[in-house]
Amino acid sequence: MKISAGDFRVPPRERVKLDQWPTRVKPVYKSKEEYNKLLAKHTAELNEQQERQYASDRYAVLLIFQAMDAAGKDGAIKHVMSGVNPQGCQVFSFKHPVATELDHDFLWRTTRALPERGRIGIFNRSYYEEVLVVRVHPEILEAQRIPDAVLNAETIWQERYDSIVGLEQHLHRNGTRIVKFFLHVSKEEQRKRLLARIDEPEKNWKIGLGDIRERAFWDQYMHAYEECLSATSTPEAPWYVVPADDKKNARLIISQVILETFRSLKLSYPEAGKEHRKALKTMRRQLAK
Ligand code: ATP
Ligand code: MG
Repeated sequence: MKISAGDFRVPPRERVKLDQWPTRVKPVYKSKEEYNKLLAKHTAELNEQQERQYASDRYAVLLIFQAMDAAGKDGAIKHVMSGVNPQGCQVFSFKHPVATELDHDFLWRTTRALPERGRIGIFNRSYYEEVLVVRVHPEILEAQRIPDAVLNAETIWQERYDSIVGLEQHLHRNGTRIVKFFLHVSKEEQRKRLLARIDEPEKNWKIGLGDIRERAFWDQYMHAYEECLSATSTPEAPWYVVPADDKKNARLIISQVILETFRSLKLSYPEAGKEHRKALKTMRRQLAK
C-alpha cells in the first residue's frame, strides 16, 4: 500500500467534522523492520531535498505541528527530521507566552522565528494556539489586554483566522511553503498514553497536571480544531489531518507529505555560470601547479 498526501489534506472551504476523519488507518508497514526501512528511505530523500533547498536558496519551508497532548508531535518531529542536516533546519516550541510576548500582537513571537530562505522551520505548536487553547480558555484572551474598543467577542475568531490566512498568503507570495499537520489522536488512545506516562517512571517527566486538566476540555478543543481547520486550510497552506493512534504510521504519512511538498518545488542545484566556470578553471590550474 502507498501513502498519498491528498488523502489526508483538508480541501479548502471544507466543513471539517473530526469524527469523520480517522484516528487510525490500515498501516503501510507490515513489521517494525519494514517501518524502519520505509522511514529511512523517506529521511534520506528528505535530506537530499533539503540540500537542494539550501543550495538553491529560493524557498523556505515551514512545517507546523498541532495536536492534543500525547498525540506524538515530539516523536514525529524527532524521527521524521532525523536525517536532515541540523544546519538546514530549526525547531521552535511555543509554550505559554511570557509577558513581553503578551504585550505584542498574537503573530509577533512566531513571526520572529520564521525560517529563512533555504531552510526548514518547524513549529511545535504555533500561532494556531491563539484560536485553540485561547478559544477554549477565555481567561487567556483577557490576559492579552486587547482594548475593549477593538475586541469583539462575536467576531474575534473569524478575525484571527483572517489574520492567519493573510499572513500565510503573504509568506507564500514571498517563497515560503507552509504545511500544517494536525495529529489526530482518539480520546481513548490519549488515555492509554497518559496512563503509561504515569505508570512508567522514565516517562513521568513527560506529563504535567495540566495535561489531565486539559483532557476535561476535549470536546471544546475538538470544536475549536474543527472551526480552525475549516477556516484556514488553503491551497497555499493546507492542513493535513494525520491519523495518529499509530505513531509509526503517522510518521510515515508526515514524511510522505513533506516529501511530496518538496518534490513539487522541483529543486535543483544551481549551475555555475560561464564566467564562474572560467574562473574556476583558472583557479584549478593554479592549484594543480
Ligand atoms: P510536551 O508536553 O510534549 O512536552 P507541549 O507542546 O505539550 O509538549 P507543554 O509545555 O506541555 O508543551 O505545553 C505548552 C502549553 O502552552 C500548551 O498547553 C499550549 O496550549 C500552551 N500554549 C502555547 N501557545 C500558547 C498561546 N499562544 N497562548 C496560550 N497558551 C499557549
Ligand atoms: Mg504538554
